[in-house]
Amino acid sequence: MRRAIINVLALFGFLVFSILAVANEGTIAFVGATIIDGTDAEPLEDGVLVITDGRIRTVGPRSAVTLPSGTEVIDVAGKYIMPGLINAHGHVGATVGLNGNGGYTRNNLLRQLGLYARYGVTSVNSLGGDQVEGFDLRNEQFDNGLNRARIYVAGSVVVGDSEQAIRAEVNRNADMGADFIKVRIDDNLGASEKMSRPFFEALVDQAHIRRLPVAVHLYYLNDAKFMLDANADIIAHSVRDLAVDREFIDKVIASDTCYIPTLTREVSTFVYESIPDFFEDPYFLKEVEPEIIAELSSPERMSRIAGSRSAQAYKAQLPTAMSNVGTLYNSGVRIAMGTDTGPPARFQGYFEHMEMHMMVDAGLTPLDAIRASTGVAADCIGMGDIGTLEPGKWGDFSVLTENPAEDIRNSHSMESVYVAGNLVPGE
Ligand SMILES: [Zn+2]
Repeated sequence: MRRAIINVLALFGFLVFSILAVANEGTIAFVGATIIDGTDAEPLEDGVLVITDGRIRTVGPRSAVTLPSGTEVIDVAGKYIMPGLINAHGHVGATVGLNGNGGYTRNNLLRQLGLYARYGVTSVNSLGGDQVEGFDLRNEQFDNGLNRARIYVAGSVVVGDSEQAIRAEVNRNADMGADFIKVRIDDNLGASEKMSRPFFEALVDQAHIRRLPVAVHLYYLNDAKFMLDANADIIAHSVRDLAVDREFIDKVIASDTCYIPTLTREVSTFVYESIPDFFEDPYFLKEVEPEIIAELSSPERMSRIAGSRSAQAYKAQLPTAMSNVGTLYNSGVRIAMGTDTGPPARFQGYFEHMEMHMMVDAGLTPLDAIRASTGVAADCIGMGDIGTLEPGKWGDFSVLTENPAEDIRNSHSMESVYVAGNLVPGE
């Protein structure tokens, strides 16, 4: 009995020690890497990044940084550091495997936030479908012991059959503590009815009364112009029906609205009509269960997608979406990385890398694709303490062995990820 008590005490002591050891409470310095900081600055060679109590204390050239005594030094000479990626449009929700309604539970949300983090996606703006467990995780993350991705939440995607019902639903989300209000203005290629314009205007009005930004799911250029006229705040998908025109570009620039392309969402609609190349990529395979790949590779499933009118329509419009990203980027519009990952077969973590690669294919420089996925994304979602490697911000970043600013496909060379200065554990 006595021995059992001693064992329990020893275990307790060990647990306390482990928790203290995990939390980033001292000062750590990462020394010698080329630092890409997520701002407009050029990469800094032979830099030093110092983290104290989970936040960035100093960033600078080795010659200019003095380390406080007792600093733990991590040698990252010859490597690259970039801020944690921010997915400005994702979903942390009920998906389990290929089942979109497998379970909205705290553990399942934590599983997804761990997965994102292992891929260097250290923040996710979950735009719809969020329930109390998601809000709780958001509330718990302002903590220097964090080692999973941060989540921001929108609550429900707002719908309603009257202006009153819509205003009430906006209020319900706002009362829960939503960071955003999410709304769809789309007919799903003619398959459903769009929200009426007066209802949409009531929604924006109510969201702004509650001081919340409105993120809009859309498809058509006309709706994108309308939402800007209605003072909605963020374009959460690409315009896909038509090439953007001067009138639209002028409106986006005048309102300084952010545009989130979600190009990989389009890919996910049709890519499983055959076996995609990335099914051979070790960087994909390391996190995906073989059963999921087997199911996506079944001939029946592939032929169903090959024969799906909606899948083929989205496929046909992807080049329009891509060229719109290029046009808007060249016009100076703020582009933020977002993927709409989370629903089945939109793979959290891996698709954020693919999205950055596609943004470069659409015309962004690699460094601008990184900025769009870090500092600009943080600005676009209104989060001031993440996104760039500057003093005072959270120590959320990745260490890579190859230079992503030289070739964006080097994003796959991430070897470690830190959130609040804590190493994200492997699976
Ligand atoms: Zn979405």
